[in-house]
Amino acid sequence: MNRTETCFTYEELLEKNRQYLWNPFTQMKEYLSDQPVIVERGNGVKLVDVEGKEYWDGNASVWLNPLGHNRRELNEAITEQLQKIAHSTLLGCSNVPAIQLAEKLVEITPARLQKVFYSDSGAEAVEIALKMACLYWKHRGRPEKTTFLSMRNAYHGDTVGAVSVGGIDLFHAAYGALLFSTEKVSYPYPYRFDGSVEACKEACLEELEQRLRGKGDEIAGVVVEPMVQGAGGIILMPPGYLKEVEKLCRKHGVLLIADEVATGFGRTGRMFACEHEGVEPDLMTLGKKLTGGYLPVAATLTSDEVYDAFFGDHREAKTFFHGHSYTGNQLGCAVALENLAIYEREGIVEHVQQTAPKLAEMLRPLSELAHVGEVRQLGFTVGIELVRDKAARTPYAWEEAIGNRVCRRARELGMLTRPLGHVITFMPPLISREEELQAMVDILIRSVREVTEE
Ligand SMILES: *Cc1c(COP(=O)(O)O)cnc(C)c1O
Repeated sequence: MNRTETCFTYEELLEKNRQYLWNPFTQMKEYLSDQPVIVERGNGVKLVDVEGKEYWDGNASVWLNPLGHNRRELNEAITEQLQKIAHSTLLGCSNVPAIQLAEKLVEITPARLQKVFYSDSGAEAVEIALKMACLYWKHRGRPEKTTFLSMRNAYHGDTVGAVSVGGIDLFHAAYGALLFSTEKVSYPYPYRFDGSVEACKEACLEELEQRLRGKGDEIAGVVVEPMVQGAGGIILMPPGYLKEVEKLCRKHGVLLIADEVATGFGRTGRMFACEHEGVEPDLMTLGKKLTGGYLPVAATLTSDEVYDAFFGDHREAKTFFHGHSYTGNQLGCAVALENLAIYEREGIVEHVQQTAPKLAEMLRPLSELAHVGEVRQLGFTVGIELVRDKAARTPYAWEEAIGNRVCRRARELGMLTRPLGHVITFMPPLISREEELQAMVDILIRSVREVTEE
């Protein structure tokens, strides 16, 4: 028997899921009674379940997969590396693909970023950035700079430090007692601001500057999701805002930490979202698409200025005391290298850039629907905000689970995606061609219309 072949029926697997498995970010009571999809295979931009039914991967397996599933070159990169070694430690030792990938990442990220520190998930990459920023100031003789300024409604991952700099009320309320305190300012959200886009931007910058003026001496860094606040609801910054954030950070002597875990690797139509405004962060976190959505490798990039503050003799005890067992995993780094080689060979970022205006055309009918408040798009990043009353912009009540219902209908029609509350996300694999995007958008339109106008 083929080892990977499923030898159980759907019902048997679901029963085992019920008995043994607790799924993340999932209310198990609802999930188990809702005929969940159990994936068996993937092929290109489609997933196939254990009963052979195909689905479009409408959120790239939760924002990961840029090049499609089961890519021959990516599979080969892993099996080739596997012939040599799967993993050896990066603690006081090194390996070939980890070094090669570090060079590549330094080459493609903004010029200020010169060193790569690996980890296994976006949340860890954020934790590492926080620790680095805090210790950087200590080593520079400013030990009072230990707090962070971040944005309301931000999402930086689910470990305790990452949730502390996050700002999604639902998660904060759940873990309040565990979190350390941070300074919070508003992320510009023009659709929910009483005034013009420009006025929204100015008000948010004013708030940020005031806080930096008052608390700058205690703040180690500003943490921000550049251009798009992702899990907070696909909220787009007004043009020019990010550049001003950078200027304010430099003016007030705090580090700029750009969390590009969601936006990095072409999702917004640039390789990194910071490039939209020529922004040079001091620290940048990467994850998600880095390995083509294959294996868990993440990275925190830093400037030489930060790195050099830790560089010293043994007796100074400036070693960066942080590391994970699987840091710099060879299989992960090897597939990441091949992933980035495909980006270059096939012009993936250019494809997103060129196709984004056509995607905007396809999405246009959505904006006209009675319960669509706003359709937000940057590259292949799309959020559709549903509202009970379009004129008054009244949100749906949480209990209505409107997003869940729309995504449930999309699933019946053959596409998988997940809602963020009342915002439907559409994050197709970056490789998606026009006709594939059109087929997915048709399902989106139909699901939103049927569920909200029923
Ligand atoms: C997904 C995400 C993270 C967390 O990454 P994980 O790999 O899930 O830990 C952090 N920041 C942003 C902006 C994200 O979208």
